[in-house]
Amino acid sequence: MKPTVVAIDGPAGSGKSTVSKQLASSLGFVHLNSGALYRGITLLALRSGAALGDEARLTEEARTAEMDFGLDGAFLLNGEDVSEHIRASEVDRAVSTVAALPRVRAAVTEQQRRIAAGKSVVIEGRDVTTVVFPNAQVKVYLDASVEERAARRHADLEAQGEQPSLDEVEREIRERDERDRTRADSPLLVAPDAEVIDTTGMSIDDVVSAIARSARSVVG
Ligand code: C5P
Repeated sequence: MKPTVVAIDGPAGSGKSTVSKQLASSLGFVHLNSGALYRGITLLALRSGAALGDEARLTEEARTAEMDFGLDGAFLLNGEDVSEHIRASEVDRAVSTVAALPRVRAAVTEQQRRIAAGKSVVIEGRDVTTVVFPNAQVKVYLDASVEERAARRHADLEAQGEQPSLDEVEREIRERDERDRTRADSPLLVAPDAEVIDTTGMSIDDVVSAIARSARSVVG
């Protein structure tokens, strides 16, 4: 059977990760979180002290780093499980600067296609419906109000033991949205053939069921 690609884009906190994870498990597909790869390169930059705008150096990292997902969904970077490290707020603040570098994006796009090759996947990100898999059989754009997205991200950070104020999280989300939407190379936008779902006030199960219906109608 031909591999099926379900591609989901949307801004920070739109529910993409939770929805994609559940959806992949209910369809029996691999879950590929493309933000983890950009976060991984950002983590390497922060650890090594490289400037966030050092495109040549970060592109080299993005080309040569071993990046993969374990069977349990853990994100492995050069053999280390960095699933928790990449969710830290320092990475949140820096990642969209790194993700704006065109050559880094080209290298990360290649890595995503390599990881997905030959598999049926649910892939989520900012440009997976437009650039990484423009021919995906199912395309979805998830959105939610900025207040709800900030509340979700705030709860995630608290669960990780951080204590930012809700206002601070909302401000950072707005700044990250702005950078992701206005960058010159593959900005976040709604693909013309994507189904748009506003998840504000919707349960995760309802969102997953809606997308699973579209996916099953494609797979047959
Ligand atoms: O999805 P997540 O919030 O973890 O993504 C982190 C950051 O990675 C985004 O804010 C964006 O700057 C970048 N990203 C991207 N393209 C993708 C996925 C993520 O530019 N496909």
